[in-house]
Amino acid sequence: MLNNNVKYFQVGQGVWGMRLLFVNVYMIANRRSAGKGWVLVDTGIKGSAKKIIAMAEDLFGPGTRPSAIILTHGHTDHAGSLKELLKYWNVPVYAHPLELPYLTGKSDYPPADPEVGGGFMSLISFIFPTKAIDVSKNIREIDPHDGVPELPEWKVIHTPGHTPGHISLYFPLNAMLIAGDAFTTTQSESAFYLLTYTKKFSGPPKYITTDWIAAGKSVRKLAALQPRVAATGHGPIMYGKELQTELSFLANRFESIAVPDKGRYVGRAAVSDKNGVRYIPPYLITAKLKATLAVTAAVASFLIVRKISKSWA
Ligand SMILES: [Zn+2]
Ligand SMILES: [Zn+2]
Repeated sequence: MLNNNVKYFQVGQGVWGMRLLFVNVYMIANRRSAGKGWVLVDTGIKGSAKKIIAMAEDLFGPGTRPSAIILTHGHTDHAGSLKELLKYWNVPVYAHPLELPYLTGKSDYPPADPEVGGGFMSLISFIFPTKAIDVSKNIREIDPHDGVPELPEWKVIHTPGHTPGHISLYFPLNAMLIAGDAFTTTQSESAFYLLTYTKKFSGPPKYITTDWIAAGKSVRKLAALQPRVAATGHGPIMYGKELQTELSFLANRFESIAVPDKGRYVGRAAVSDKNGVRYIPPYLITAKLKATLAVTAAVASFLIVRKISKSWA
């Protein structure tokens, strides 16, 4: 759909999505009999507020605002435009209790692990901001049993691993799943896959997942639901048999498909609680990492030298 100069797509009945460079946001309308209005799920990268508002006004009319914003988790590519949006829409923001420290300025996320994944995104994960933001004024704890009052028909499923308070949303009536980064439908370590949205069923983004045991359990939990539609944080929407086959394959072979061979958080998870990060495994400098660092440094100095020589020309 291309209206109002915004490009978005329909996921299923009452659910729409929009791709913001390499990450998706979703809007869910309540069925009239169930509840009022609509909610926004995730807010994309920084600078996306105008596009999100344009999409909302195109779908629900001028001056519309969601009854709530729900965050699958607080990573910067999902919560990047949150502060900006709250200037226009002063609405409650729901997140899992274990995700709150990173949204109330209490704790930063554990650092990314540039060693895993092997792609360009892993390299730039050095600069992936893991700093907490503070939206305390609007934040509400999700009650994992009762879900979100503004979205009564959808179940909230705690799917930790990628982050401690990561959640997925599930609509049993249509077997529709919004999975955040619990799994993805593109290879998010590769800039090529990520930016072209090339379909490739994958586990959570490797360089920023800090508990692989929990991440595997979460994927198995989602596979057991046998969703018919899956909308993820990164990559295209997947449906039907293709989705179920790929998801159960990932669930059954999570350790060999999704978990990196080695890395900072492999075999040793970061530990966190309601107050934020408690333990971060020490960094082991390996030969591979040294090589990675050398390549990054070489590319950076090449770019700097080129810039300097250009400015002298
Ligand atoms: Zn994430
Ligand atoms: Zn993400």
